[in-house]
Amino acid sequence: MLVIKDLHASIDGKEILKGINLTVNAGEVHAIMGPNGSGKSSLASVLAGRENYEVTGGEVWLDGKNVLDMKPEERAREGVFLAFQYPVEIPGVSNINFLKTALGEIRQHHGLPPLSAKEFLAMTREKQKLVEFDAKLANRSLNEGFSGGEKKRNEVFQLAMLQPKLSILDETDSGLDIDALRIVSNGVNKLRSKDNAFVLITHYQRLLDYIVPDVVHVLYNGRIVRSGTKELALELEDKGYDWLKEELRVSE
Ligand code: ADP
Ligand code: MG
Ligand code: MG
Repeated sequence: MLVIKDLHASIDGKEILKGINLTVNAGEVHAIMGPNGSGKSSLASVLAGRENYEVTGGEVWLDGKNVLDMKPEERAREGVFLAFQYPVEIPGVSNINFLKTALGEIRQHHGLPPLSAKEFLAMTREKQKLVEFDAKLANRSLNEGFSGGEKKRNEVFQLAMLQPKLSILDETDSGLDIDALRIVSNGVNKLRSKDNAFVLITHYQRLLDYIVPDVVHVLYNGRIVRSGTKELALELEDKGYDWLKEELRVSE
């Protein structure tokens, strides 16, 4: 589904991504871990097409389509969802109206007719139930006055509604109490299917107790330096990142 080849990207002339290679197949969940400042959020931003990053080399393919040629909104219509890609707060636009517009654009892009008001309402109800999302939040202005946990829960509701091919969740677990973590994780687990894929960016192993990844990668200093199973995440939790940095220093 997603193929990244030797991706390089800079910000203000400083190279942040230094040759990322990553293949994510449909049906898989990949976790990307790594110390602060490694480039995890930068990778997510580059995949979503944020303009402050300059791609200086490499390729990104989504189901055979060249992602780097697409504008951010085209990427979204093609099914790339980055949690946080939408403005943090849009006063006056209700969450539900935002989703109606976004879903309409995605359906149109795929040659599907718009949903009737009744169909949209039925879908909204079904998805709210699926991810245990409070109907009251759905009708509030987009993210206005949402707590950290409510924003994260809202992201999972957006995922349920928009059904992206590839979801990139950047530190969705940070700031969540244990109940919110459980609800967000259950939501993602219910939305996992053979047709979609998730990239979970997380600083801590905790999230991976709830959402079991197929592959765990360590991003360090702009490169994926290690890939493994969920045991790798446990090892990192246990030993931290210093041993890995030391090993990399020795091998350089
Ligand atoms: P992570 O998500 O792994 O903590 P980031 O992708 O946020 O890492 O940051 C990677 C590197 O890019 C860091 O050195 C950071 O200082 C730098 N960086 C991120 N955003 C900017 C920016 N807007 N301007 C300059 N440097 C940035
Ligand atoms: Mg960081
Ligand atoms: Mg980050």
